[in-house]
Amino acid sequence: MNFVSTNGKSDPVSFLEAMVRGLAPDGGLFMPEQIPVLPESTLTNLSRLSFNDLAFRMASPFLKGEIGEEALRRVLSDAFDFPTEISEPEPGKFVLELFHGPTLAFKDYGARFMARLFSELAGRRGEEVTILVATSGDTGSAVANGFFKVPGVKVFVLYPGGKVSPLQEKQFTTLGENITALEVEGVFDDCQKLVKQAFVDDELQKKMQLSSANSINIARLLPQSFYYGYASARLTSKGIEAPVFSVPSGNFGNLTGGLIAERMGIPASGFLAATNKNSVVPEFLQGEAFTPRASVQTISNAMDVGNPSNFDRIMHLCSGDESMIRKQLRGYSCSDLETRETIAAVYQKTGYVMCPHTAVGYRAAGEFHQENKDAATVTLATAHPVKFREVVEPVIGKTVAVPERLKPILEKQSSSHSLPADYAAFRDLLFSSV
Ligand SMILES: *Cc1c(COP(=O)(O)O)cnc(C)c1O
Repeated sequence: MNFVSTNGKSDPVSFLEAMVRGLAPDGGLFMPEQIPVLPESTLTNLSRLSFNDLAFRMASPFLKGEIGEEALRRVLSDAFDFPTEISEPEPGKFVLELFHGPTLAFKDYGARFMARLFSELAGRRGEEVTILVATSGDTGSAVANGFFKVPGVKVFVLYPGGKVSPLQEKQFTTLGENITALEVEGVFDDCQKLVKQAFVDDELQKKMQLSSANSINIARLLPQSFYYGYASARLTSKGIEAPVFSVPSGNFGNLTGGLIAERMGIPASGFLAATNKNSVVPEFLQGEAFTPRASVQTISNAMDVGNPSNFDRIMHLCSGDESMIRKQLRGYSCSDLETRETIAAVYQKTGYVMCPHTAVGYRAAGEFHQENKDAATVTLATAHPVKFREVVEPVIGKTVAVPERLKPILEKQSSSHSLPADYAAFRDLLFSSV
């Protein structure tokens, strides 16, 4: 299948090309030329498929002609070697737990799928690829873990010193091998600026093939449609026809994955766009103009985005028809106080513990239920509560246990290079890595 730019001014490219480039030459985001509808035989048998079988059927039409069946199955089984689970803390209010991967957040789905496809497809070209990623926490850990030991790929993770949580830092500074952690003396924006400068440095690009693995990459977006299909299928066996999905959102990649799944024929009755006080999209959905602005800091900080880049993809999927977007999505926004109240209330009532991002989505689902008593909602749980224990523990008055499989990481020695927020120094370091 071909991939086109949301700006419409670049030539269509293959999946591989779209993945390696990241951004289209006209500055737009890549989207599939069309959204394939799953065959009837798949749609009527959804509940009988395993996660990986369903993922295979959903991924195949996009990758047709670029990867063989056996290789794609290998990519999927390596990428998704952890469970996807569904809980039901209260009747009809389901939670889709996407945090059972190695870095405890849903970004593992996108990062691991992309990393394995990269080694299958880009690896065939026989060139070494250098991936630069700036992070304020979650993206760096998911990408570093995803690409860890992937042949032909070197990763540099740039993070602001002292500004990521200790657990997140451990997740990308203890790996070694092909992963180099760079602790930048500055803030996240300084990290991002260094990466952007490298991408426009022609001399550097002649020496190494640079690529980015940031969240706008199409290879990270596609796998985020699989779990909607899986959730919908699992609920069918409980007699639920088409749930409403509540998606805690920042850059809106996760929600875009849901819209793609729905266009493919996955049963869904609509989507709740749940945000914290960075509420550009909920305001748009209430009839205002789309007005990006600087982000504000909240306790659900992975959603602190003032200018959600995937909004262009949502527009593209709706052929630029704003009323169509407003029909499919309902917006909800909540404050930090309301987020904390939700975490506490759900814990007291049911014993279920959720992270602040998940709580934003669960609260939106609750508001939706008040008007739609018989609805079934699925809130996407985007991170494990232990990842945000600094917020969660004081609210529930209890410690959150660290999953067993994470304990070895906490004991490992961290290793990172410190780097001034200065391009010349970064450039020297990259040149000396060749
Ligand atoms: C990235 C992230 C989000 C936001 O996802 P988008 O695709 O950017 O909307 C929500 N929760 C957590 C825990 C995240 O890491």
